[in-house]
Amino acid sequence: MDMSNAPDICLDDSRQLRDDDTFEFSCTPNRPCFTACCYDLNLVLMPYDIFRLKKRLGISSGDFLKHYTSVHVGQGTGLPVVMLRMEGPYLKCPFLEEEKGCSVYEDRPGACRTYPLARMACRQKDRQGVEEFYYIVREPDCQGFKDGRTWTVRQWKENEGIGPYNVMNDVFGELLQAKTEAGIAHLSADQIDTFYMGCYDIDSFRSYFLEGPNLERYMESQEVIESISRDDEELLRYAMRWVKKKLFQGGCLSCGLGCST
Ligand code: SF4
Ligand code: SF4
Repeated sequence: MDMSNAPDICLDDSRQLRDDDTFEFSCTPNRPCFTACCYDLNLVLMPYDIFRLKKRLGISSGDFLKHYTSVHVGQGTGLPVVMLRMEGPYLKCPFLEEEKGCSVYEDRPGACRTYPLARMACRQKDRQGVEEFYYIVREPDCQGFKDGRTWTVRQWKENEGIGPYNVMNDVFGELLQAKTEAGIAHLSADQIDTFYMGCYDIDSFRSYFLEGPNLERYMESQEVIESISRDDEELLRYAMRWVKKKLFQGGCLSCGLGCST
C-alpha cells in the first residue's frame, strides 16, 4: 500500500522495529472492521506482487496489467508506477469477495501481508545487502490493535510469508538505487517501455528475450539461459538486473560491456 500518499493512514515513525522487537496486533474475521482495509487503497504493486497474482489467476502478465492495474509515470522518479485498480462505487479491491475476504490470500501483495508494519530497507553503496527495519502503520478504522496478540517482527514475517517478497523487492531496490547513482532523472519513452517490460510484464520479457531473435541471449551462458527458461522467479530476477544494466549501468547483463542491442 502506498501508505505515504493516503492522508488518513498514520505511520508511526517514533519506533524503528527490528526482528526481535514486538508489537500487538490481531486480525481475524470476527473483527467488526473485517475487510474494511480492502477499499479505496493506493496500492502500488511491486514486480513480485504482479508475478504472484498473475500466476494465481492463471493469466499472462500483460492481461493482468490490462485488467487489474493503472499505470502512471511517477513525478519524482520518472519511472512507471503500477497500481491496483479499485472497482465500483465503493472502490473495492478487485480481489475482495464480500463476506469471504481476500480471494487471492496466499498470493496477496506484499503490502497486504506486511500491514500493520511498513518495511524500510536501507542500502549502502559500499556494502552488500540491505539493512531493514519496520514502522507501525495504522489504518484509521482498523481494530486490530485492540487486544492484539504479541508478535515479534520475525514471527510476523514468517507467519505472513513476507520473506520471498522482501528478497524480490530488494532486487528491485538495487535497480532503483542504480538509477539514483547514475544521476538519471528522466527516461525516454523507449526506456520507460523497457523498464515496464522487464519489471512488470514478465511474459513479454520472456517472449522478447528467450523466444525472439536477440543478440544478448546468444551472449549469455547456456547455464543461465537454461535456468531462466525453467524457473520463472529466476527469469524475473534476471529481467530486473537486465533493466538495471541496460538503462542505468550501460551494457548488457551477460558481458557487462557497453554494447547495446
Ligand atoms: S489483495 Fe486481498 S488483502 Fe489485499 S486489499 Fe485486496 S482483498 Fe484485501
Ligand atoms: S482493518 Fe485491520 S483488523 Fe480489520 S480486517 Fe483490516 S487489517 Fe484486519
